[in-house]
Order: sequence, then structure tokens, then C-alpha cells
Amino acid sequence: MVTWLTPDYGRVVTAVKGACRPKSAFLGQYDLFYTCDLLFYRRERDGVHAIRECVPRELREPLRQRWRHVVAATYLCDLTARAVPIQQEAADLFALLSQTLDRLSHAPETNLRALLLWYETHLLRHVGLLPDLRTCPHCHPSERMWLRFSLPSGRLTCPHLAKSQPGESTLALHRAVRSLFMLLADAPQFETAAQILADKKNDNQANLLLGLSRFLGMFMVFHLEVPSAVRRVTWETLDTTPAQRPA
Ligand SMILES: [Zn+2]
Repeated sequence: MVTWLTPDYGRVVTAVKGACRPKSAFLGQYDLFYTCDLLFYRRERDGVHAIRECVPRELREPLRQRWRHVVAATYLCDLTARAVPIQQEAADLFALLSQTLDRLSHAPETNLRALLLWYETHLLRHVGLLPDLRTCPHCHPSERMWLRFSLPSGRLTCPHLAKSQPGESTLALHRAVRSLFMLLADAPQFETAAQILADKKNDNQANLLLGLSRFLGMFMVFHLEVPSAVRRVTWETLDTTPAQRPA
């Protein structure tokens, strides 16, 4: 069983009969993170289609030399598979995932944590769930560093408009983390965001990335119903070095 992301039909699952036989026509024609030309019969049976032909177009071989990049690519593919609708056009997500896998393969110096956060932000935009972090002049004066964000409504709480629901899940968001989010959300290409991040490098940047990671993590668990453990393990694995294990 192979799960594909396609521009025209979103997530597609195909059964590849005899895929593991030594003479299978499909041997070596597909693998994790490949982009392929795929011909399949839309002959749905329990959500599974029949594959006819498959030809690899982009193998992204260099990716396989660097385990951290594979960890990042694995996480992004898994997240996308969970978030993308079945049998709906998904050209934007397809382009987003393709260009991000290309970058992981061909730009080894990429800041992986920043790339994951950039990807998550734009994935949320494409599925119509981008958090709204616009501030209100009444409730969020610029001298206030910590803002309160409502998870159910997906925006900053605004007491002057309406009382928040009792028991509503909210979380505190630092203004600098909000700025980092806006920077990533406003950059249609990761290169732009990476350039700005590199220009204003400071000691705080790791903390800001961690703060944004926590915010997006909680937001996605709430709205996409993705398991939090997958993402946590991904970040812990990226932090692992031979000498130092993550806390
Ligand atoms: Zn307000």
C-alpha cells in the first residue's frame, strides 16, 4: 500500500500488487520522498486505487545521506498526509511539499527548525486554518509583551469585543514569538524568511523558535487533531547529538 500526495486528487492510496517480487515492474520506481509520474485507475475499493504505471521524476538522493534531514522530511510528509483532504485538488500543498523536500535534499545548510515552522505555517494557510494574530489597539497596547491567544477561536483574545467563554483554552504568546510567526507567514518562499532570520541573528533566536514551536504544536493538536508525540519526537531527534541526549 502506497500513499501519495497528488496535485489533482489530494491524498491517494494505491495497492501495488506483487511489489516485493524480484521481477516486479515497480521495483525501484518509487520510494519515500520521490516525485513520480503516476498512472492509476480511479477504481475505488475501500479507498484504495489500482496502480498502472509509475516512473520516478525526482529522487532527491542527497537527502538520504543526512539523517536529520530525513527526520524532518518524514515528519513533514506524515503531517501533510494527516492534514490533506482525500480526493480533493491539492496543487498548493503539492507545490509546498515538493519545494520543501527539494530544499532538504539540495540545501544541507538549511536551518531545519525554522524550515519546519515555516512549512507548518503555510500548511495551515492552505487548509484554511492560519491563526489570526492581528492585534487590537484597545486590548493589545504595544507595551504589553505577553498576549493571550484563544485556541478555539484561533485569534488573540479581545476582551473589549466579547467576554471569552468560561473554560476556553487559551495560551500566553510573547510578542516576539508573534513577530516571528508573522515573518514566516508573510514569506511565500523559505529563502526570504531564512535571509531575514540570518540578518537579525541573536542569542534569543533559538528561544523564539522554541516558543513558536510550542505555540504551533498546541494549535495543530487542537485544530488538526494530529498526535503531539510525533512532533515532539521529531524535535527531540533533531536536538540529539552523539554526546548529548535530549532531556
Ligand atoms: Zn480588543
